[in-house]
Amino acid sequence: MQIQFRPLIATLRRILPFSCVGVLLLAMNICASAADGVLQLKLRSRDASGVSEKTAAWNTGKTALIICDMWDDHWCKSAARRVTEMAGPLNEVVKQARARGIFIIHAPSSVTAFYKDIPQRRRAQSAPFAKTPVPLANVERWGTAWCWTDPKRENVLPIDDSDMGCSCVGEKCTIREAWTRQISTIALAPEDALTDNGQETWNLLTERGIENVILCGVHLNMCVLGRPFAIRQQVYLGKKVSLMRDMTDTMYNPERPPGVDHFTGTDLVVQHVERHWCPSFTSSDITGKPAFRFKEDKR
Ligand SMILES: [Zn+2]
Repeated sequence: MQIQFRPLIATLRRILPFSCVGVLLLAMNICASAADGVLQLKLRSRDASGVSEKTAAWNTGKTALIICDMWDDHWCKSAARRVTEMAGPLNEVVKQARARGIFIIHAPSSVTAFYKDIPQRRRAQSAPFAKTPVPLANVERWGTAWCWTDPKRENVLPIDDSDMGCSCVGEKCTIREAWTRQISTIALAPEDALTDNGQETWNLLTERGIENVILCGVHLNMCVLGRPFAIRQQVYLGKKVSLMRDMTDTMYNPERPPGVDHFTGTDLVVQHVERHWCPSFTSSDITGKPAFRFKEDKR
C-alpha cells in the first residue's frame, strides 16, 4: 500500500501546505494498516436452533487459504465444466487474498509429481518438521491420507453420492484417471506453496504461525472435507477453519436422494459443514464483489 501511495504523496507535497500533507499521510497510514492486516469475515454457522452469522476479524498474516483439487480435467464432464468456470473467479480471489498477506497453499491431490522441483513444491517439502497435537489421518483413499465421515461429530451427508455423483443429464460419465495437474487458470505465485500432504501442510502452517485456515475448491462432499489438508483434519488439529462457500462444488447426481437440483445439493452439503464442522463465508468478504454463482444455477 505504501509504495502505491508514493507518487500521490509526492504530488501532494508539491501542491499542498505542509500541515495538510501530514494529516493526509496519517489518514492514509491508518487506512492502509486496517486494510492490510485484518480480514473481516461474516461467518455463518448452524446449530439445532438454526442459522447464525457473526463477524470475525482474522489477522491476514496468520491465515492460510488452501485450494483443494482444482484439477485440469475430471472424469465427469459436468464437474470439469464447473471447475473451469469457477477457476477464473477463484484466481482473482486468490490474487487479492495473497496481496493482503494470506498464505496460499495449492493442493492438487495426487498430481503433485507434476510440480516436482518447482520452488512452491520444494517450499512445502523443506518446511521444518513440526509435531502435530493429534495424530494425522493415516488411512489412504484416492492417493492421499483421508479423514472419513466422523460419527462422533456428524450424521451421514445430506446427499447420496454413492454413485460418485456424475450430474450429467442423459449419458453418464465413466470413471477414469482424468487429471494431471492443477488447472492452469489458477496461478502459482513465487511465495505460494504446493502440497497434498497433511504433515507438509502442518509444517508450513507451523513455520508461519498460522492459526486460521480457509478451504475452497472441490468437491465439498468428498475431498474438501476428507483430504489430509482439508476441513476435518484442520478442525482436528485445532485450527480456526472456515469454508469459502461460493468457491466450491459437489459431486452430486440429482437423480439420487434427496432428489434436488445439483446446486441445491451443494447448498445442503454447505449447511452440513456449517452445522458439524466449521462456519462459512463468501468471497465477497475478500473481494468486495458479489459472490460467485455458476451459470447453470438457475434457481
Ligand atoms: Zn458426468
